[in-house]
Amino acid sequence: MNKLKVGFVGWRGMVGSVLMQRMLEENDFKNYTSFFFSTSQAGEKCPFGFAESEYLIDANNLEELSNMDVILTCQGSQFTIDVYDKLKNQNWDGHWIDAASHLRMEKNAVVVLDPINSDLIDKSYSGGVKTWVGGNCTVSLMLLAIHGLIKENLVEWVSSMTYQAASGAGANNMRELLSQMGYLFNSVSDMLENRQGSILDIDHKITSAMLDKNMPINNFGVPLAGSVIPWIDSDLKNGSSKEEWKGQNETLKILGSQYAPVKVDGLCVRIGTMRCHSQALTIKMKENLSIEQINEKISAGNQWVKLIINERDATINQLSPTNASGKLDILVGRIKKLNLDSNMISLFTIGDQLLWGAAEPLRRILSIISNK
Ligand code: NAP
Repeated sequence: MNKLKVGFVGWRGMVGSVLMQRMLEENDFKNYTSFFFSTSQAGEKCPFGFAESEYLIDANNLEELSNMDVILTCQGSQFTIDVYDKLKNQNWDGHWIDAASHLRMEKNAVVVLDPINSDLIDKSYSGGVKTWVGGNCTVSLMLLAIHGLIKENLVEWVSSMTYQAASGAGANNMRELLSQMGYLFNSVSDMLENRQGSILDIDHKITSAMLDKNMPINNFGVPLAGSVIPWIDSDLKNGSSKEEWKGQNETLKILGSQYAPVKVDGLCVRIGTMRCHSQALTIKMKENLSIEQINEKISAGNQWVKLIINERDATINQLSPTNASGKLDILVGRIKKLNLDSNMISLFTIGDQLLWGAAEPLRRILSIISNK
């Protein structure tokens, strides 16, 4: 069988580098003839010895791109806007796999999360679909966490309050969070040495440092270290952010007609963690099940869900971004009945948004396509 020619774009960004790491771990590259493109470093030496071309190819060169059977891009929506239509207008007939949001709502695009929607993927492939888009990170992670409840049509609605990591905004934002932390630390490091000093003086200096002109805020626009940013993505001018809009709309698109629709809404908040998105979910169930039954169903959702018992020590030791980072585990804990209504539960879930929230569904759809 001929190997597919796959062109990788955006492989050095946050999502792209995690994708490369996963593909190397799984020895995936042996299955493809791989070409590496760049929007900024064309002509420079390609860092992967197994690549078909020794040098990076210009990602804006439509002729080179159109030689590919598959283009897999983690570059971002602007690249998709610049290139996708032009390639299609030239009758390029390959598969387009994308981490960016731009094409997610297109009629002929499938938002891929194969543990949940492999039937939709198979049906769409047979129907001639060639555009495959990774979902929003919080949506994919939420659906994997409550997969066991969704499968059994037990969820009426979900309110999700997110705690999203800096890495969700890209490589430069991760660097900026650390620079901000360093800047704040340096502004009080001498005062920390003095154990007798006033904590209020330290606090006052930190607040001044956060607001002074040397605090590095080029990427976030405001301080994140020592603070939170309760708005992610653009302003839809109806009180919601685009990130919050994705909660409902991408959920429905991923679930397709195989599952009953689930209502989703909430607030999306950026916090100063490096990696892994957390979410506090309030779920209105369709049935009044016991906590034991709910735990059982959530655990049975898929092989990646890791249930953490709702006790203090287990929670603080195991239910944290630190424990999810770099792993495919979907941590789920804090499951309890809420006093608000006998059919309402809370749940806290954490997943590595660069793995299941971004790179892993792309790695898997590439493999699914190549095995067809
Ligand atoms: P990113 O880290 O900003 O990388 C995107 C591109 O920026 C890179 O491919 C690279 O392109 C360029 N770049 C500029 N400065 C860089 C630096 N210092 N280090 C590395 N690359 C640099 O973006 P991303 O977070 O991977 O996101 C890519 C797309 O995936 C976006 O559409 C995003 O919305 C989506 N997405 C992201 C996440 C997430 O958790 N981060 C999750 C789901 C979806 P050149 O090599 O061509 O210069």
